[in-house]
Amino acid sequence: MQNTKPTTIGSTERTTTGSHQPGVTEKTAPQELSAGSQRAITASMLYSLVSCPHRVTMDVYTDPAQRDPVNAFVELLWERGSSVERECMASLDILFVDLHTFTTKEKAYKTREAMAAGAPLIYGGRIEADDLLGEPDLLRKEGTGYVPGDIKSGAGEEGGDDEGDDRRPKKTYAVQLALYTDILERMGLSAGRRGFIWDVHGAEVTYDMSVPRGVRNTETWWDFYAVQLATARDIMARTHDTLPAYASGTCKLCHWYSSCFQAVKAADDLTLISELGRAKRGAMCGEITTVAELATINPGVYTKGKKTVFTGIGPDTLAKFHERAKLLSSQNPRPYLKAPITLPTHELEVFFDIEVDPMRDVCYLHGFIERRGRDNSTEKFIGYFTSDTTPAAEEAAFAQAMDYMRRAQPCAIFYYSKYERTIYRKLQAKYPTVCSADDIEALFEPTNTVDLYFDVVRPHTEWPTHDFSIKTLAKYLGFRWRDTHPSGAASIQWFDEWVKTGSLETQQRILDYNEDDCRATRVLLDGIRNLA
Ligand code: SF4
Repeated sequence: MQNTKPTTIGSTERTTTGSHQPGVTEKTAPQELSAGSQRAITASMLYSLVSCPHRVTMDVYTDPAQRDPVNAFVELLWERGSSVERECMASLDILFVDLHTFTTKEKAYKTREAMAAGAPLIYGGRIEADDLLGEPDLLRKEGTGYVPGDIKSGAGEEGGDDEGDDRRPKKTYAVQLALYTDILERMGLSAGRRGFIWDVHGAEVTYDMSVPRGVRNTETWWDFYAVQLATARDIMARTHDTLPAYASGTCKLCHWYSSCFQAVKAADDLTLISELGRAKRGAMCGEITTVAELATINPGVYTKGKKTVFTGIGPDTLAKFHERAKLLSSQNPRPYLKAPITLPTHELEVFFDIEVDPMRDVCYLHGFIERRGRDNSTEKFIGYFTSDTTPAAEEAAFAQAMDYMRRAQPCAIFYYSKYERTIYRKLQAKYPTVCSADDIEALFEPTNTVDLYFDVVRPHTEWPTHDFSIKTLAKYLGFRWRDTHPSGAASIQWFDEWVKTGSLETQQRILDYNEDDCRATRVLLDGIRNLA
């Protein structure tokens, strides 16, 4: 994959009504082919399929009245996607054909006309062939054909956030670009099996469909697309059944969450076991289908040497899920320690949580609760909120937070999951005058700075919950957030509101939410200590 700046191409008739909706639910509704009544396979359908196959089934066959209201954060993603797209197109300085305001019918024939005339760049077109339909943001002439492109309001690739985390294509983007390419091939207008993403930073990321998906995975991106396309067709033909699942991250933003969670609970589905997931459920399918069944098995029966009869599930993993199933199925479930743990003991304990807007690429709040002598009455919240969204303001808040943590030494610092360390490494690289890379590594040295999720909860504890998120575990321990809808996604939405309005009330809502997240980390630490 290659990163280059977008080719600058000029503007023609432009309006401000973008129709593109990047993000978790972009272009979700199946669209009709212009020529007939048959449902088409669309890019948004493949995007959903890669995230969750059941979503395709639900979107196509379930009464829309059963959907949950659209999540406010998802709406924000739509809005942000449209505005990034508009700004991107407005910044180009050479001619392009702009079709994004036309009706779908007009778009289809005007796109064909523009390609026949050899237009160098087409924005907002619509292409279709056989049962495939696509609305790529861009179609760019290369040689005698066209390559498709999409404008995204986030990063163009996965990863690159932490050490050893290489950048790689996003499956969701790859299948969308492959579908457009497939349509162009069927129309005899493809310039080759590749596409491009213009990302939020103005970079162009090339998606080459002919290359293998990984070093050990020899399947090409085109092969991967072909499998997804076949699955989508099978779902449409009702020859491929899908099942609802519980996946904390994906499902909670999905408009089918209530319906699916109800179904999953009623079925006592295996995905109710923390970290089991769809793939492992699929591996056990036919042998074990419910949590109650898994709780009663003898794992040894399914174990052969260093393997089990279930593909991708080793003996230790099967034993772990068996224990979790027993815990979830027991009459009086109680969390427990799997092995002794050692936690730092300092008079001063600091509970740390940050808030980041990934679309603006701004860390807007560094929050700390400090407690002395394990006495909750000494608790104090300290928050460093960016004064605006400029790099200077972000740097100032980062410098204040680093200064606070230096002054707080000696102390024990507790946070939940790698995110804080990842973002601090990024902030240090962005603002090297604030501190050195060694300062960040020393700050997150695990003797006194503990990632409760990766270093304690996952390896050393079990909980009778469906996931190990801080929200779930702290709520299990009786903690309640003051806000009625607390979530990181909601915080980003409030931050967006604060940027637009400057509302002090909204800012306080963000601060209260972050303070409660920090306090939830303290509640969890105390809960873990009580397990010992
Ligand atoms: S709630 Fe989860 S399982 Fe159901 S359709 Fe959405 S993502 Fe899929």
